[in-house]
Amino acid sequence: RIAYVNGRYVAHAEASVHIEDRGYQFADGVYEVCEVARGYIVDMKRHLDRLDRSLRELSIAWPMNRAAMEIVIVEVIRRNRVKNGLVYLQVTRGVASRDFLFPADTRPSVVITAKKVDPAALAKRAENGIKVITVPENRWDRVDIKSVGLLPNVLAKQKANEAGAHEAWFVDADGTVKEGGSSNAWIVTGDGALVTRPAEHGILRGITRTTLLDVAAKLGLRVEERGFTVAEAKAAREAFISSATTLAMPVVAIDGDPVANGHPGSVALSLRQAFFDIAEKRPA
Ligand code: PMP
Repeated sequence: RIAYVNGRYVAHAEASVHIEDRGYQFADGVYEVCEVARGYIVDMKRHLDRLDRSLRELSIAWPMNRAAMEIVIVEVIRRNRVKNGLVYLQVTRGVASRDFLFPADTRPSVVITAKKVDPAALAKRAENGIKVITVPENRWDRVDIKSVGLLPNVLAKQKANEAGAHEAWFVDADGTVKEGGSSNAWIVTGDGALVTRPAEHGILRGITRTTLLDVAAKLGLRVEERGFTVAEAKAAREAFISSATTLAMPVVAIDGDPVANGHPGSVALSLRQAFFDIAEKRPA
């Protein structure tokens, strides 16, 4: 495998950044994960728009211009022969002697990697659906920034894994579901409306979420952007999560209680089915 690190294509096994990179010391950086499907990069424009927003919010400069970044992304995919998989892109404030304040003239560090994912394995998981657990929200209030500071997410997802589940939903003190450790959360109500929490604050505005809203409009589904509680989700007709790595992925159990009949819902599966056609695709 080949990785791109600060201007060079290097063997993945030997790729490294300096010990005083601020990403390493302070989680002072941001990232993106894009899906690659059937030889296309999915929704690259939206991912790079969000990267731009994350960088701006933290006053980190682009490590190169956007056109160059797109060329490097395509090149990393090509060099790794990825037709179906993921691209990971990380930008940190760069390397500087450890100090909380922004360094004066440091160039941001950039790392781009790509890996293959077996689409059949992912399809299989969607056929079976996944289980989620709920955990109290314990993150800071700027989770709209896609920062590499993911310790609460690591702990929550580890806890889910140890409970035999795939995802953990962060839940507010009043019982409303925020989002998953690495995904957005959705339900389908008894009368067929799609419900997902507004993305103005308190969650990451998922690119898959945004594109699924386009898909829902195309399919003529009713959408309610509002909060929902764990109790409402357990009593819903369907529940599912969304992310670039899972796409629309049915949820069949919440904290051990089945959602509806405990089988993947048809709305989630039809959104999953229609996603690729409606998403923006760029040949990789
Ligand atoms: N919320 C969180 C906390 C995430 O980490 C992710 C995945 N990066 C998402 C939502 C889903 O975002 P996207 O659809 O852009 O992958």
